[in-house]
Amino acid sequence: MRCDLCGRRANGETTKGYTYYRCSPSAKNHGHLPWFPGHPRAALAAEGQLVEPLARLLAGRVFGASRKTYLAAITVGPETPPARTWPPAALRSPQRPKTSSKARRT
Ligand SMILES: [Zn+2]
Repeated sequence: MRCDLCGRRANGETTKGYTYYRCSPSAKNHGHLPWFPGHPRAALAAEGQLVEPLARLLAGRVFGASRKTYLAAITVGPETPPARTWPPAALRSPQRPKTSSKARRT
């Protein structure tokens, strides 16, 4: 679960028998970021408030009859991953002429 205010991952915690998702950024680590001044010290979402909407989402979009429609809408097409070479071209050194070990000693 991610915080809608800052995009960071919220942490789950249980207090007094209730489970919450909490986002509490620190000024030391996040004070320089543009969203920090508008972020409350702690943003909480009760798990109980999330269960029903999440169940509805899963029932409709993952397991529902319209799942093919939703999947087609978000799928662009088959992706071909770029070919990987190692080392990358930027790190490759130009070809050096081969020399024998005898040639180096002279
Ligand atoms: Zn946040």
